[in-house]
Amino acid sequence: MSVTLVTLGCRLNLVESEAMKDAATASGLSDIVIVNTCAVTAEAVRQARQTIRKIKRDTPDKKIIVTGCAAQIEPERFAALDEVTLVIGNDSKTKRETWSELAQSLRDEDHAYPRVRVADIMAVTEHAPHFVSAFSENTRAFVEVQNGCDHRCTFCIIPYGRGVSRSVPMGDVVDQIAKLVDAGHKEAVLTGVDLTSYGPDLPGSPKLGQLVKAILKHVPDLKRLRISSIDSVEADDDLIDAIASESRLMPHLHLSLQSGDDLILKRMKRRHLRNDAIRICTELKKARPELVFGADLIAGFPTESDEAFENSLRLVDECDLAFLHVFPYSPRNGTPAAKMPQVKSNIIKSRAKRLREKGEEVLVKHLQTLVGTEQEILVERGGLARTQCFTPVYVSDRFEAGSLARVKIVAHDGKRLTI
Ligand code: SF4
Repeated sequence: MSVTLVTLGCRLNLVESEAMKDAATASGLSDIVIVNTCAVTAEAVRQARQTIRKIKRDTPDKKIIVTGCAAQIEPERFAALDEVTLVIGNDSKTKRETWSELAQSLRDEDHAYPRVRVADIMAVTEHAPHFVSAFSENTRAFVEVQNGCDHRCTFCIIPYGRGVSRSVPMGDVVDQIAKLVDAGHKEAVLTGVDLTSYGPDLPGSPKLGQLVKAILKHVPDLKRLRISSIDSVEADDDLIDAIASESRLMPHLHLSLQSGDDLILKRMKRRHLRNDAIRICTELKKARPELVFGADLIAGFPTESDEAFENSLRLVDECDLAFLHVFPYSPRNGTPAAKMPQVKSNIIKSRAKRLREKGEEVLVKHLQTLVGTEQEILVERGGLARTQCFTPVYVSDRFEAGSLARVKIVAHDGKRLTI
């Protein structure tokens, strides 16, 4: 008799799944599985459908409720699956009344209750506040501070799943993090769709940097504050100042770079060129030498030539990246890039392979720089921990999950540090 959450996709989905679990359980629902889907690639949507079928095979008596970006963008496609009881949109999924009304309709056996409850996400302008008291599975606490996106990168379907950019008021974020610290969390991770779009919809239009400074000022017991992924060229002055001067702000940034070629960046409708990315990385490293960068890079974006791809490969060193997330381009119906001349799939595959190999090379180089040093680690589950610069450390079961410890790094295995 329980509420089970199956979370696919990003950290934002993780936060929202925790909130849905709280709300669904509180409304007395049971024997339901909520599948929180992702739509970032066609493969992600395929995995969501596959997951739903498997859940029904394994637990035929459970009711399956589908939500998340894939359900928001293609509700009818999921409603057409026999395995699915209900499809809920991204806006209503975190609202408590959604779950209490559903519980009531199931108790009343109200067959008039609509199977598809998906509103026009573009009409949503308010951020539906939902707070998580603690994270049951994670030692790091993910905090949703922004949702939606006003940009239209030509390869991206996310705005159609998440709607316009909207921000959580600073006071609410500070309160949320204070509660998570009281619940024992040592690290809070600021999460959103496009974090650097934080604030223009709030009184006084605060920027992400102001939010970061407010959190560190008003939650003095928070040990570690981390920023998930940002568009580096949109980093505001306060944010750059906080990165340089706040030791509790973790020296790790994951950058949404996507390509190292100017023509491709223009065709992606990104807001930066390669020299902007190199300049901001160089400036930030000068301001905080221990800062470590990760980045998202797409291989094989439509019209990407061999030379353009080489520019992406070179960018890895020029921005001194240590962690690479490589995405082989896959067309998403409804995006402008899907209509552009496509790169052959075998070329996409070979470029993604070369980028991943580059990623392994720079990771080893980074790991080697930490051997022999002392590091503060936050212990997660499964014998893994993370340094302040987000580097994985294998600790076996020597430390309690959720605890902070200082350790001497003795070696690495090419993927993780060891102690
Ligand atoms: S900034 Fe671009 S890539 Fe990121 S969510 Fe918005 S449209 Fe997608």
